[in-house]
Amino acid sequence: RLEELNGKVALVTGASSGLGAGFASTLARAGAQVVLAARRVKKLEATAEAILREGGRATTLALDICNKAAIDEALTQLPALDILVNNAGIARSAAALDVSEEDWDAVINTNLKGMFFTAQAAARQMRVYGREGSIINIASILGVRQAGSVLPYAVSKSGTIQMTKSLALEVARFGIRVNAIAPGYISTELNQEFFESDAGKAMLRRIPQRRLGEQPDLDGALLLLASDASRYMTGSVLVVDGGHL
Ligand code: NDP
Repeated sequence: RLEELNGKVALVTGASSGLGAGFASTLARAGAQVVLAARRVKKLEATAEAILREGGRATTLALDICNKAAIDEALTQLPALDILVNNAGIARSAAALDVSEEDWDAVINTNLKGMFFTAQAAARQMRVYGREGSIINIASILGVRQAGSVLPYAVSKSGTIQMTKSLALEVARFGIRVNAIAPGYISTELNQEFFESDAGKAMLRRIPQRRLGEQPDLDGALLLLASDASRYMTGSVLVVDGGHL
């Protein structure tokens, strides 16, 4: 099958919770050897152990994507990568006129700067090993559409989309593909509070499929982009959002 990932090595950042933990498990089930990276190592280990119990292959990596030197060092130690799921990210909520410098820096440094330098290090490593790799950046529909009270987050995610397209253009000649998934509202720790609020409940009513997404709803896009099934796709953004208007 085209989506099979047997023999492939995948790095998933932000694999200690939410979407990243699910992505790592899905890739392992498809046959990939998975490296789970984030700051909370105990949580990474719990997911890695669950993968091993299912007969998959997984290791963990303590990594802060805001530390460029640590990313570069980690990528020199890892086996040759075929897949990067560039997923680690944070969200902060505040009205635009109340956004603090601290929130701006935290969100942009993690979601935009951290994500870019992770992609850069992975692409360099793939080029050195001659791997025809696939980089999958996790953007958001908020990178395409506007929403209130998440300005730095929305700016970071539209930056992720532009980063995806620009990087794709430059690394295609090495056989490396760079695409993005722009999820809609998917139930995780990141947005639990928001969906319990009135604004969150109002948002839910605007989703044509009338439900929050769950991590497995993204697996089709993930496996497509990770595998040879998408070999002629690069610089693309797949929106997976239940038909949000
Ligand atoms: P979670 O908060 O559940 O997970 C975020 C992950 O990112 C955690 O594993 C966290 O691990 C990791 N992380 C955060 N900062 C860093 C850092 N500096 N270095 C390394 N890892 C870091 O959120 P989600 O699973 O919901 O989000 C995952 C991605 O999906 C994010 O990029 C988010 O923007 C995006 N997304 C989510 C949507 C949703 O509705 N849930 C919708 C659209 C996009 P640790 O704290 O252990 O380092």
